[in-house]
Amino acid sequence: MKITDLKKHIRDIPNFPKEGIVFKDISTLLKHKDAFKKAIDALASNFKKEKVQYVVGIEARGFIFGAALAYKLGAGFVPVRKKGKLPYKTKSVTYQLEYGMDTLEIHEDALKPNARVLIVDDLLATGGTMTAVIDLIKAQKAKIVGVAFLIELQFLKGKEHLKDLPIYSIIQY
Ligand code: AMP
Repeated sequence: MKITDLKKHIRDIPNFPKEGIVFKDISTLLKHKDAFKKAIDALASNFKKEKVQYVVGIEARGFIFGAALAYKLGAGFVPVRKKGKLPYKTKSVTYQLEYGMDTLEIHEDALKPNARVLIVDDLLATGGTMTAVIDLIKAQKAKIVGVAFLIELQFLKGKEHLKDLPIYSIIQY
């Protein structure tokens, strides 16, 4: 399978979760064994020289790609979760959504200073979520060696908020 074939495995769901949004459904890619493997292999090969020590995955779809990628890279996995889900002491970041606010948390001892971290989510839209997570990681003084997505919605220009970081996505719209 080629990287360019992966687009065929992503399904557009118009007006989900609300009117006007075209939701990129990745469940169709995940259930296809060759497509899922190709996606993880492509992400891993892009970052294999970075000596990644921890992959940080963002709840919930970032967990799926992040955990497989951590295994493939021989790295640990660190979850960033929605408020109130992590059991130990946490650091949190609150950020603006299109409507209202949201809060994400990481365990306060998750990352040591200078730890080499790769952050993963399924999709880059406006970049608000990733910007918030980058703040959490920087507060722990870890070193962000990469930011990875399966999908980038280029027309939303999220990348402009993530300047000076090595961003990589497999599929662009
Ligand atoms: P943003 O903070 O705007 O970059 O949005 C990124 C987060 O929202 C990711 O965790 C995505 O899973 C989710 N998301 C935003 N837009 C879409 C979309 N069109 N299809 C699927 N997921 C989306």
